[in-house]
Amino acid sequence: MRLLHWLSESTDERPDAVRVDDRAVSWVELRRLATAVADDLRGLDRVAVEATTDLETVVGVVGALLAGTTVVPVPPDAGPMERDHILRDSAAEALLVPARDAPRGGGEALPSVPVDLSRRADTVHPEPDPAGTALILYTSGTTGAPKGAVLSRRAVAACLDGLADAWDWTPEDQLVHGLPLFHVHGLVLGVLGPARLGGRLHHVGRPKPQRYAQAAGSLYFGVPTVWSRVAADPDAARALRSARLLVSGSAALPAGVFADLAALTGHRVVERYGMTETLITVSARADRPRRPGTVGLPLPGVRTRLVDEQGGPLPADGTTMGELQVCGPTLFDGYLHRPEADAASRTPDGWFRTGDVATIDPDGWHRIVGRAATDLIKSGGYRIGAGEVEDALLAYPGVREAAVVGVPHPDLGQQVTAYVVGDGVRESELIDFVARQLSAHKRPRQVRLVDALPRNALGKVQKSRLVTD
Ligand code: ATP
Ligand code: MG
Repeated sequence: MRLLHWLSESTDERPDAVRVDDRAVSWVELRRLATAVADDLRGLDRVAVEATTDLETVVGVVGALLAGTTVVPVPPDAGPMERDHILRDSAAEALLVPARDAPRGGGEALPSVPVDLSRRADTVHPEPDPAGTALILYTSGTTGAPKGAVLSRRAVAACLDGLADAWDWTPEDQLVHGLPLFHVHGLVLGVLGPARLGGRLHHVGRPKPQRYAQAAGSLYFGVPTVWSRVAADPDAARALRSARLLVSGSAALPAGVFADLAALTGHRVVERYGMTETLITVSARADRPRRPGTVGLPLPGVRTRLVDEQGGPLPADGTTMGELQVCGPTLFDGYLHRPEADAASRTPDGWFRTGDVATIDPDGWHRIVGRAATDLIKSGGYRIGAGEVEDALLAYPGVREAAVVGVPHPDLGQQVTAYVVGDGVRESELIDFVARQLSAHKRPRQVRLVDALPRNALGKVQKSRLVTD
């Protein structure tokens, strides 16, 4: 099967099948626009794409993949250093830019290729080798400088087919989201998903609750910050009652948001877990009841295990926390130009070390505790998961956002410290409140009230910046 099976074979002429913000095309039209780009890229190995939230980005990415050219999305809001790093590190040979911006180009010493929505072509490009590279995606940079992950066409296909199975995703679906187009979530799931599996795609531009409400979709994707905004807008949330499935990922969905959405929309959100390096590996399923705070079961062909700090096996008993390791068809081929990071990321028997801490229930349901480096706090001989403390903080009236970290402490090793965004919150009362919900050693010893948490484009809290600040 071709990587972009639906797009390649489609006879779908519905004029609004693929909508990005205020512009829409049919699948047939998108294929013809993308084929014109593919013709331009013939002979190029790697091309960067200015990944703005535009129809041109979709046309450019799809065109490159039809041609067998590796796509390197460049976040439009990347600063000059990050941008330069991505363009140099990836060794992209050209930059795809919307035709209206083409004369300006990227300002780089790189030829720009315009994506021109007035040009169409009907060439049939032979399907490239599935072992070839589809994408070089840079990680979110939550824990350090973004690393380029080399993802094969085969891995992308395996991930999307796994999600079709888990979410019953069919050509009947209309996908709605407002995610950025340069990470796994928005690009692989949110664009290549419908291009392979079919249905309609409506990218709402900015992920505002009202835009989700007006979109009339069946399948909705969002990151937790988006879902918490939807939950805070009851009218918008109620409009999602007619949806089939609401999906959350990229970071942990707070249990309170899960509960609020269930009450307002009638839907228990499907949470899924993944990484740039592994694509999506674990997800709740459309055909099974969902549990708050869990990311579900491994996708078809994926295996998972928990290990201790020495790499020894740990039991899947629902309470033992360990590093999650994964193996299966969705794994990347390695980091670009980073042999050391690459070697460190895999075990001798070929499993990928996620760097995330999890528990696995006896019946296979996974809970992500957080990142080993910042979310597993070791304080006074206890191991404390930051997420559990964050959920307790969020249950306190007035607390809007919370991030818990372990700050180095002479006595305890690390001290549980909470950064909180909220209105009218009194530190001592908040600490007492948490102490009543959880075991005493889990209560924050310190609460810092801040105006905002440092977050990246997907809304992930950059905890390393909190620990060092
Ligand atoms: P970097 O690797 O550059 O530090 P990053 O790890 O945030 O950045 P991504 O690959 O975009 O880059 O994100 C993967 C991480 O996101 C996972 O390792 C995990 O920590 C987190 N994550 C993804 N989905 C979930 C989820 N459903 N629940 C909790 N955490 C999640
Ligand atoms: Mg990472």
